[in-house]
Amino acid sequence: MSSDPADPQVTGHCLCGKVRYRATATPIWVAYCHCPSCRRATGSVIAPYAGYRPQDLVFEGEAPARYASSPDAVRQFCGTCGTPISYESPRWPDQIHLLLGSVDHLEGLKPQGHAYCEYQVPWFEVADKLPRGRGSP
Ligand SMILES: [Zn+2]
Ligand SMILES: [Zn+2]
Repeated sequence: MSSDPADPQVTGHCLCGKVRYRATATPIWVAYCHCPSCRRATGSVIAPYAGYRPQDLVFEGEAPARYASSPDAVRQFCGTCGTPISYESPRWPDQIHLLLGSVDHLEGLKPQGHAYCEYQVPWFEVADKLPRGRGSP
């Protein structure tokens, strides 16, 4: 278990521990999403994600349950405890977006920007200086 922020080895698990995963490479990007779909799917007003190549995210333990949150999108979550795990859509081909809340050590996964800021909840204050965009950058 390294605390080196450059260490690409990221591991995580859902609340009950049945769904487990590890990343075998560094993510393509790390960013916050403010969109209403992520809000509902996560129960939170902001959703931090890391985008990985699907082959770089290895699932272990129980297979996550899947839900089509829109006709072209699939969200994975733990079928036992409900922890949201990931998002996939052909709008971002060859990517899986991992929700960061279930990652064991978040030090090396610092977000680089905000997406879908047009949906940001008015009372949610953002104090960072990261790039902010409407829709997906
Ligand atoms: Zn679980
Ligand atoms: Zn979103």
